[in-house]
Order: sequence, then structure tokens, then C-alpha cells
Amino acid sequence: PLDRLQDPTLFKTDAFIAGDWVAGNSRFPVHDPATGHKLADVANLGPAETQAAIAAANAAWPAWKARTAKERSIVLRRWFDLLMAHQEDLARLMTAEQGKPLAESRGEVAYGASFVEWFAEEAKRINGEALPQFDNNRRLLVLKQPIGVCAAITPWNFPLAMITRKVAPALAAGCPVIIKPAELTPLTALAAAELALRAGIPAGVLNVITADAEQSIAVGKALCASDVVRHLSFTGSTEVGRILMAQCAPTVKKLSLELGGNAPFIVFDDADIDSAVEGAFASKYRNAGQTCVCSNRLYVQAGVYDEFVTKFAAKVRTAKVGNGFDDGVNQGPLIEEAALVKVQRHVDDALAKGGRVLVGGKRLPGLFFEPTVVADASADMLCAREETFGPFAPVFKFETEQEAIACANATEFGLASYFYSRDVGRIFRVGEALEYGMVGINVGILATEHVPFGGVKQSGLGREGSHFGIDDYVEIKYLCLGDI
Ligand code: ADP
Repeated sequence: PLDRLQDPTLFKTDAFIAGDWVAGNSRFPVHDPATGHKLADVANLGPAETQAAIAAANAAWPAWKARTAKERSIVLRRWFDLLMAHQEDLARLMTAEQGKPLAESRGEVAYGASFVEWFAEEAKRINGEALPQFDNNRRLLVLKQPIGVCAAITPWNFPLAMITRKVAPALAAGCPVIIKPAELTPLTALAAAELALRAGIPAGVLNVITADAEQSIAVGKALCASDVVRHLSFTGSTEVGRILMAQCAPTVKKLSLELGGNAPFIVFDDADIDSAVEGAFASKYRNAGQTCVCSNRLYVQAGVYDEFVTKFAAKVRTAKVGNGFDDGVNQGPLIEEAALVKVQRHVDDALAKGGRVLVGGKRLPGLFFEPTVVADASADMLCAREETFGPFAPVFKFETEQEAIACANATEFGLASYFYSRDVGRIFRVGEALEYGMVGINVGILATEHVPFGGVKQSGLGREGSHFGIDDYVEIKYLCLGDI
């Protein structure tokens, strides 16, 4: 699929440090999950190159932070324009290495680029404050200054957007960045780096360290241990988030963590059922269920349970599974074998504990899994506790609003949640009671660049996107001026 790129020079396989493409001493393969074909052999770097990237970023920092906000804004805006000008090629690279349908990849390129556009604008609004003095001989000021060299470790499910929503605010604030993209999807990241270079982002301000699974651990250790790196932003599993947090303790690094979710999707008796069916479908099966905000547990009130389940199952039967490059496909492959094993384990467990399969339930050849709906789900099932991260929707029945809230909150996670209701009192009560960083009410999709994305409890720390998204990349400094 990659010989049809409009600009073949976007197909990069070397890492990017200090403005140079770095081949490294070894390579690792990247595969197309839809076909199993090898797409590329990518530079496999380790701790030594990571130190070089940290040094390059640190060296580039003074000149980058000395630029005016408007100058940084102009460079970011140029990067945004280039990302959008190459939307089609970036989408092809993404579908090839990640598997999501081409239309979804185009959407992700636009979504990913939108963070660059947004933070190009926000770069000009990182305002300090003048505080009222406690003594008329003094003046009290608050400055916001760039935190320093930042590291970003990103996952494979959004190969572009998870990078831009960390890198764009960092660059806007005046910080250089070292990106360690997921080993399964480095090609999109490298193409974005090539476009950053063309946009005029100076050497050393944006670096990409590619590494396989094993070397990623060593690269991560080097980034965490460095006292030059002042901030680490990570999106991925809660398990790895905990490891990185512990590794950052000795250098007391500022952390932004966007970890696992276990999103509830609640349908009350008073909901518009057709709308809830559409919302549940979009929320559950987007990216084949492989997003941290995908609904994981569907809770439906007894009065509309049968109607919802029947209509939802009918909707899911219309899903077309296949290679993301093929027309009409709206569910691609899962990313790797381990992902299929987990989905099958959750489905089998649900069936063994009394679940009733309405659609799907099985693997298909290759890395594909049938979009699956299981009714009569119960709290003792694995899918009630763990994030499935695949195309499996268990549907639970509940009686009261209190019960729905209690079930929804019975998890250590707190990223996205959703509910459908037409009752304004209930909308406020439930919206306030859900222990989640994000609540979608009568919607199944809620992310966009100018809202704060993030979780509570063990789903993470900090917010990405929106004007809050700059906060993690600046330090607040208090100046107390006397003798006025
Ligand atoms: P996912 O569940 O999305 O596969 P992971 O948390 O395993 O997420 O991986 C997300 C990112 O974290 C990837 O870039 C991966 O290479 C990296 N990673 C995984 N384990 C470690 C580790 N121990 N140290 C540093 N990075 C890691």
C-alpha cells in the first residue's frame, strides 16, 4: 500500500535526532496487521542515542524559548498546514501500520493536526499575572516559563494524534521534545517529523527515537533517569504508567499520564433509544474497540433493555470487517495476536458465566475479530473489571439510577463515561456523580482539540488539549519586587 504515496519521501525508516536521520546499528520490522506483510525495517535505537537526543534537545532549548511566542506560533502553524496538505499520505501510512479504516485514518490526521493548529494559537496566550501587593512598596508578578526538555512516550492506537497533543503544547510553551513512538506504528511519527523539519522546527527541538519493544524499555529508563528531562508525558497502559511513574521518582519529574479506561455507557429508560444505539456503536467499535475511551461496559435500564439490545445487535450486524484500505470497511484488524487472545478470553469468560451471544463471538482468519455483542452480562465477568480493548460489547441490565451509578464507578479507572437520558434533572445528577474525567451525555464521541482530555483515579494525571493542555509544560514563577 505504500508504493502509492503521493510524496514517497514521507516514507522514513530512520530515527530523527538533532535534525539528522539516524540509521542506528540495528533495525526492527514493522508489519501491516491486515495482511501480515512487512512494511519496513526501522532504526532500533538504545540508551546511547537517547542520551544524544537529550543533549541535542537541551542544546536547542535556549534558542527555542528565546523566540517570541508569535515566532513559535508561525512555525507550528506551518507544521499544521503541511500535515493537512499531506493528509492522504499520512492516512495511508497509518492504515498500513495500524490497520484502522482509511476514512478513520484521514479523520485522525485531521484530529492530530488540529492540536498543532490549536497550540499554535495558544502559544500567544501563555499569559502571566500581576497580583495585588500586600505592601505598597512591592509588586508581585507571576511568570509562566517553559519547563525544559520534555519526553513523550506514545501508543500505537492513535499513531499521530497521541504525538501531536503532547508535542504541540510543549513546542508552543518553548520546550524541546524527544518522542518515543510505539514500536508497532513508527512510520506515521517519522513522516510527521519530516514535515516538522520542512516547517522549520529547528534541529534538536523535535527528536524521534524509534526502538523495538525491548529497546523501548531501555530508552524509557534513560529518559526517566535523566535530570535534564523535566517532564514525561505518557499515553498507554496503566501498568506501564506505574512503572514510568516509579522510574521518574528519583528526578521528581513532572508527569502527564493518560492511562487505561473502563468506560461505562449507560442507557436510561427515558433515553432516545435509536440515538443511544448509534452512540454505542460509534463509541464501542471505533478503531475496532482499541481506544482508551471506547465504551467497555453497556448498562441498560430494565424498561428499555430488550428494545436496546435488539436494535443494537441489528446495528452491529451491519459492520463490515476487512482490510482498512477496502471500500466500505468500518472495522479493521486488531493490532496484534495478544489483543485477539484478550478479546477471546473476555468473550469466553462472559459466555461461561451466563452471557448470551447475540452477534459474533469468534476470531476470523488473520488478526480480525467479529464485532461481538453479549447480553445478560454480570459483575463477576472479566469484562466488568478489565478493559477489553477490542470489538466486544457486554450488555448489563440495571433497575435504578443509583445502581447504574454504583456499577459505573466500581472500577479503579476514571477516563471516559457516557450516558443517555432526556431528563434534565437526571442529566445533572448522573453527570456530577460519575467519577470520570469526561462524561458524554447523549453522545458516543466526545474528543476534540479544544476540550480537556484526561482521567481521574488510576486513569492518569493532567489534561491534554484545550487551554489547560499547556499547563503541564510550563512552570509558574513568582517574582516579588521590593523598593518600589
Ligand atoms: P498499549 O497497551 O497501548 O500497547 P503500552 O503501555 O504497552 O501500551 O505501550 C505504550 C508505549 O509505551 C509504547 O510506546 C511502548 O513502547 C512503551 N513502553 C512499554 N513498556 C515500556 C517500559 N517499560 N518503559 C518505557 N516505555 C514502555
